[in-house]
Amino acid sequence: LNAEHPVVVVGAGAGGIAAAIAAARAGARVLLVERGRAIGGTVVHSLIHTLGGLYDDAGRIINGGLAAELADALLHRGRDSRQRRLGRTWVLNACPMLYQELVTGWIGSLPGITVALETWVDRVTERSGRIEMVTLGSRSGVVTVVAPRAVVDATGTCAVVRLVDPALVVDREPAAAGGLIVVLRGVEPGTLEAPRGLAHLRALRAAAAEGSLPAGCQHVWLDHGVRSDEVYVKLAVPTVVISARSASLDAERDAVVELLRRQPGFSSSYVAATGAPGIRDGGRVVGECMLSEDDVRSGRKFADRAARCAWPIERWDPHGSVALEYLPSGLSYDVPLRALHVRGLANLWTAGKTVSADACAQASARVVGTCWAMGEAVGRAAAATTAPALASASPHQQPQPPAPAPLP
Ligand SMILES: Cc1cc2nc3c(=O)[nH]c(=O)nc-3n(C[C@H](O)[C@H](O)[C@H](O)COP(=O)(O)OP(=O)(O)OC[C@H]3O[C@@H](n4cnc5c(N)ncnc54)[C@H](O)[C@@H]3O)c2cc1C
Repeated sequence: LNAEHPVVVVGAGAGGIAAAIAAARAGARVLLVERGRAIGGTVVHSLIHTLGGLYDDAGRIINGGLAAELADALLHRGRDSRQRRLGRTWVLNACPMLYQELVTGWIGSLPGITVALETWVDRVTERSGRIEMVTLGSRSGVVTVVAPRAVVDATGTCAVVRLVDPALVVDREPAAAGGLIVVLRGVEPGTLEAPRGLAHLRALRAAAAEGSLPAGCQHVWLDHGVRSDEVYVKLAVPTVVISARSASLDAERDAVVELLRRQPGFSSSYVAATGAPGIRDGGRVVGECMLSEDDVRSGRKFADRAARCAWPIERWDPHGSVALEYLPSGLSYDVPLRALHVRGLANLWTAGKTVSADACAQASARVVGTCWAMGEAVGRAAAATTAPALASASPHQQPQPPAPAPLP
């Protein structure tokens, strides 16, 4: 039995990384458990290069703290990183590999965090509304039993909460479409500038409509990359296809790339990277409070704000078409901390896209910057439950967290 780590964070994506850093900076020892071989989550594994939720609709930073530090670090460390207008929103264009390098260095520089890669939660023991023990399995076969004071489920799929009680998870059926992202390099700079960019997109969609590309390609999207010779090809994929790990995905990708190579500007292009297929909604927890569509539309504010968000509601249908509903100009809403606290379980939290919300509210709040802000709030709250004296002190009496270590 390992009682060394009072805070256990499961999942090292945006929400989990922020939770681990915030808890460690508040003085807690943290075990960060990640099923994959590397940390970074969807941003890294699915190759997300347009980080949303960092800015409001006027392009100002919307959350301070770690989300703002992340934006600052990405802008200063990446020669090609830039803040960019996308429709009526602002995103941070940054290379997913730079993001991975930054967050890996950040986590590694905090001695309070132990990272367990290729490790997952097998069993959770709950008694009287508290998680008492967590049993971890690993690829190496080592089984570890941890007795945490607080647990954060940041798996993006509510994997820990499901083990406690599946009734504490809401799944949307059918789920919003996921996606597959392919990075092309060697593209002639300017190839996506208007009106040429639109012509390429029309050519792809027409080919899907007439059957020379698989029908699944009808919602394909092309986006400027981070470097001038890069194009990100975004294929919408039904979540059921992702779950079935269908080989048709590779065929779709190859067909799109082949057709693009026959388009002007793409003749020298090559596939530089293919992301892992990513899911947008892996379920949402039942929290102490549920963020609703009305809260989002009315710009509701909460006293226990964990994050502020102005991102539009992204309505992805199961097959891959998307409609964006922008919030009225200047409007933003809060995600309350109670929506990240799992109902009836004193020491179980979630962080990231599994926030307690209805499908519509989650479709706005799941963007990366908001996940960072939610994770930070949860990490602080989890650390506070491990040190009751810290929790009851007023903000002015609290010891200042150590200054962030410089990013390596
Ligand atoms: C195709 C696609 C495109 C997107 N595009 C954008 C975009 O352009 N801009 C934007 O801001 N957002 C975008 N998003 C949304 C955004 O990327 C995610 O909502 C956000 O990154 C989710 O962060 P998270 O921390 O909640 O979960 P994740 O990043 O999914 O992290 C969860 C982590 O938990 C790990 N894990 C899972 N189960 C276990 C387990 N049992 N034990 C241990 N570890 C486990 C996973 O390996 C993963 O590392 C996109 C999402 C998708 C799918």
